[in-house]
Amino acid sequence: MIELRDIAFSYPGSDFRLAVPSFNLSEGERVAVVGPSGTGKTTLLNLIAGIAVPQAGQIMLDGQEMTGLSDGARRTLRADKIGFVFQDFALLDYLSARDNILYPYRITSGAPLNAEARARADHLAEACGLSGKLGRRPGALSQGEQQRVALCRALVRQPKLILADEATGNLDPENKSAILDLLFSRTREAGASLLAVTHDHDLLPRFDRIIDFADYRMDAEGAA
Ligand code: ADP
Ligand code: MG
Repeated sequence: MIELRDIAFSYPGSDFRLAVPSFNLSEGERVAVVGPSGTGKTTLLNLIAGIAVPQAGQIMLDGQEMTGLSDGARRTLRADKIGFVFQDFALLDYLSARDNILYPYRITSGAPLNAEARARADHLAEACGLSGKLGRRPGALSQGEQQRVALCRALVRQPKLILADEATGNLDPENKSAILDLLFSRTREAGASLLAVTHDHDLLPRFDRIIDFADYRMDAEGAA
């Protein structure tokens, strides 16, 4: 599903360097990324999503080389293949929770925003305990509710790859377990791959493989 080779990345004017000699994620595989703050976990997800572009190396997403694509082509590929739960949610303030969840349908022509899509959005929201809140804007939701909206948005188009950046960081324990069950069951049903950054070590047994950024070992074996 994902293949990274000889990646070198830095931000302009920053000392931070991320080097990834080799990293693969198979179809259906569920991998956790752990490690201290500032080690490049979010950067890795941004590279895979084509939001950041490496200075060197190749990134293949579902058999397609991303690094040579135009910004527009990368955006389309991302919208078609990836559901991304951003660490800061990245919800649009001027849209209701429902329209935020449905937003992936607005940005590409790949999938129609039809009754089935709307029903799926409502169903996901219900499963996340958001039923009565879909008409509200993000500013009128708690952090945990916003995080659940972000999760619904990532899942609604049933992407082949889910990137989740601390996707349970703002949830209380009860919600967390329900949301994780949802994330893993949807991933499994869709045969999707999951790459999840988490600080929550209780969650690690749910994953097939763990990569520890504290070791700076981004190799094919991982570090677990
Ligand atoms: P993590 O997710 O592991 O906490 P990040 O990938 O967010 O780490 O950040 C890795 C490093 O890159 C940090 O030192 C951070 O300050 C820096 N960084 C992140 N985003 C930017 C940016 N847009 N411009 C410059 N430096 C950045
Ligand atoms: Mg981060």
